[in-house]
Amino acid sequence: MTRSFVFPGLTTRVVFGHGTLSKVPEEIERLGHGRALVLSTPHQADQAQVLAEALGARAAGVFTEAAMHTPVSVTEQALAAYRAAGADCVVALGGGSTTGLGKAIAVHTGADQLVVPTTYAGSEMTDILGETSEGEKVTRRDPSIRPEVVIYDVDLSLGLPVALTMTSALNAIAHAMEGFYAPDRNPVTEALSRDALVSFARALPILRDDPRNAVARAQALYAAWGCSVTLGYVSMALHHKLAHVLGGSFGLPHAETHAVLLPHTTAYNEAAVADLLAPIRDTFGKGSAGAGLWHFARDIGAPLRLADLGLAETDLDRAADIAVKNPYANPREIARSGIRQLLQDAWEGREPA
Ligand code: NAD
Repeated sequence: MTRSFVFPGLTTRVVFGHGTLSKVPEEIERLGHGRALVLSTPHQADQAQVLAEALGARAAGVFTEAAMHTPVSVTEQALAAYRAAGADCVVALGGGSTTGLGKAIAVHTGADQLVVPTTYAGSEMTDILGETSEGEKVTRRDPSIRPEVVIYDVDLSLGLPVALTMTSALNAIAHAMEGFYAPDRNPVTEALSRDALVSFARALPILRDDPRNAVARAQALYAAWGCSVTLGYVSMALHHKLAHVLGGSFGLPHAETHAVLLPHTTAYNEAAVADLLAPIRDTFGKGSAGAGLWHFARDIGAPLRLADLGLAETDLDRAADIAVKNPYANPREIARSGIRQLLQDAWEGREPA
């Protein structure tokens, strides 16, 4: 029998294709606005500048200081720039860091957000904002945080470095993985996640050898959209909690940490809900979802060891302590000994049992 579910509806308008960056002006107009502050990281400042020039009078200015984990100090500078420029909306061009800055500006000003994602991390479809202040990351969820429009332009992803391609795609797969056992999952997120797994499984091995392959880039960006929808509309559990602990308390890099943890968090929960994780096992093979993801990550050249990301073995006890401190919903009981072993396996990079 079909189980009961609630489907909350999708509220973000999505424009997907090649060359869709050219749609930014008409999408700003469609929102009823005329002065966008264009956002980017310093690394993508040139792209932001080119976009602002193309927008002409519709660009109120450019702010290129977006940084990982949305530091509050940067948001304050961006808010000052937003107000000084007389902007009435934001266009965030970049990965999750730039999207995060756009969300933070929206929280303070009510600005509409138009996001042009250039990685697969998947912040653009979500109502989640994680902000950092004095070394502490605080995450909140609210419908007002969700961007109004997302423009996926495959052409902008052609130059995404191979390493970030693989780690941000595994970050996206982690959203799909936890979506399969989320208590509030629904048939739309499940279908998009299943489709996303298949697309990533096809595209990433091609992109490892041929990063500018436009067909594989389109498949990967499409998959990222599905995973982002899943993150944005259902609850996350152990995997995201652990990634948050390692990023927030130990300063580990975001996408790489997700990539290394994924096979191990999957294996941990597979012991309780193997049936729900069958789409992962079936897509990646190797008899189990955890082992399948580990082999896939190894094949596409993703990092496998927390040790390589700068975490000391002596930090594993403290990481396990923090991870079990506040109880949270997870399909398998969060036992300190099991989490400690999971972290050890991920630190050493061994295939999950
Ligand atoms: P990122 O946005 O930090 O980007 C990493 C670097 O790659 C930056 O210098 C960026 O400018 C550059 N870059 C991005 N796209 C590029 C491209 N196509 N070509 C060349 N360089 C490019 O990395 P990320 O992994 O996308 O995002 C990580 C951040 O997003 C974290 O702070 C994380 O917490 C957040 N995040 C939030 C959510 C959410 O729902 N709130 C979801 C996922 C990630």
